[in-house]
Amino acid sequence: MSLEPTLQNIRGTFDILPYDGRGEGVHEAPSRAWQHVEQVIRTVLERFNFREIRTPILEPTELIARGVGQLTDIVTKEMFAFQRGDTHYVLRPEVTAPVMRAYLQHRLDQQGSVQKLYYIGPCFRAENPQKGRYRQFHQFGVELIGTGTPEADAEVIAAMMAVYEAFGLRNLRLRINTLGDAESRPRYREALLAYLRPLADQLSPTSRQRLASNPLRILDTKDERERRLLEGAPRLIDFVNEKGRAHYEAVKVHLEAMGIAYEEDPYLVRGLDYYTHTTFELESPDLGAQRALAGGGRYDLLAVDLGHATPVPAVGFAAGMERLFIALQAQGYRFPEEPPLDAYLVSLGEAALHWALVQAQVLRKAGLRVDLDLKGRSMKAQMREANRQRARYAVIVGERELEQGRAVVRDMQSGQQQEVTLAELADFLQGAVRAV
Ligand code: AMP
Repeated sequence: MSLEPTLQNIRGTFDILPYDGRGEGVHEAPSRAWQHVEQVIRTVLERFNFREIRTPILEPTELIARGVGQLTDIVTKEMFAFQRGDTHYVLRPEVTAPVMRAYLQHRLDQQGSVQKLYYIGPCFRAENPQKGRYRQFHQFGVELIGTGTPEADAEVIAAMMAVYEAFGLRNLRLRINTLGDAESRPRYREALLAYLRPLADQLSPTSRQRLASNPLRILDTKDERERRLLEGAPRLIDFVNEKGRAHYEAVKVHLEAMGIAYEEDPYLVRGLDYYTHTTFELESPDLGAQRALAGGGRYDLLAVDLGHATPVPAVGFAAGMERLFIALQAQGYRFPEEPPLDAYLVSLGEAALHWALVQAQVLRKAGLRVDLDLKGRSMKAQMREANRQRARYAVIVGERELEQGRAVVRDMQSGQQQEVTLAELADFLQGAVRAV
């Protein structure tokens, strides 16, 4: 039987299969590699005592509009949003605003004045799909809520770096900057506008739009010509007040003491509105155009944007899983192999198939990985299947073996066969598998 493809998945999304895939709509890494990468991330973040939070994929549109910022690309252009009845829904484009919503909603401060939370899960943005940029992608990240100290910023950056270090990724570039606080940002904004307005006709259409909406974002431009224009622009750091500078200096001292190499980048502003003070971004040279592996910063004002009366100090990072995969594959990372099946039960005849079905349960309860033929195939086809599944042992049972209460156990590597009584089969296989 040969299958004919009918409907396809949506462009910019992909299936994660149990197999290596290079086809359209299939992520290159198999599900096994995803499980491994997720497990490493969890292990590292839990070592820092971050604990998992899972928030819904669906959120009220208002949360994202207010949290991420009305004038950001995400909200103006990239939201998958819809309405049913009076409710406006959005597929979450990021997880920081949802986590802050949950923190406020459930008064998590009462569970401990510092909350260390991490997440892993899908996010959605209606972007132009390309390598490293998808419409459904996966983020992991942390949010450290309840403290405004520079130590918290350093802890979050250290946790982010520890994840990539655990994978042995090399040549990463960490850039940091400070945006100052709510008092210094508007003053800088005015100075930047005064510098850029006379140059407006030399700016790209996007940047010209940002002049009106979010001029700091212009600093983020990748356009070389615009970058040169910006060389003479006022520098953010000159507008940051003493408190802001002291905070930034302390973060740098901590990073240095922890042996975390960084570069300062006065133009690093990041795309989301809620950042204050420290911002940072991690890049890999292996990612091509979409260089950012992860980014983050301090966002003390997010709670206020969401309607809370006072700021709630918080800092976090968000990282792309797919970009991590691209970097891992580029650097030749060896993902663990699928563990082999311990046993494949080969049965001949109806009674033997029934026995195999029941016996598989016994062996699985004993902790073995076991599969069996569920199709009534020929002996030859079943042995081929045992091979294809890389089973360590084939357990062969026909009517005669059943009658005699024995099975033929074949070591698939050496080809050696021996008879084992059915009563002893679980013990035998367990011992044999453990001995390997
Ligand atoms: P952001 O929430 O925009 O700061 O993104 C954080 C990280 O998520 C980025 O550094 C990327 O690694 C990843 N990311 C963001 N948008 C996408 C996307 N459309 N496709 C794949 N990864 C993304």
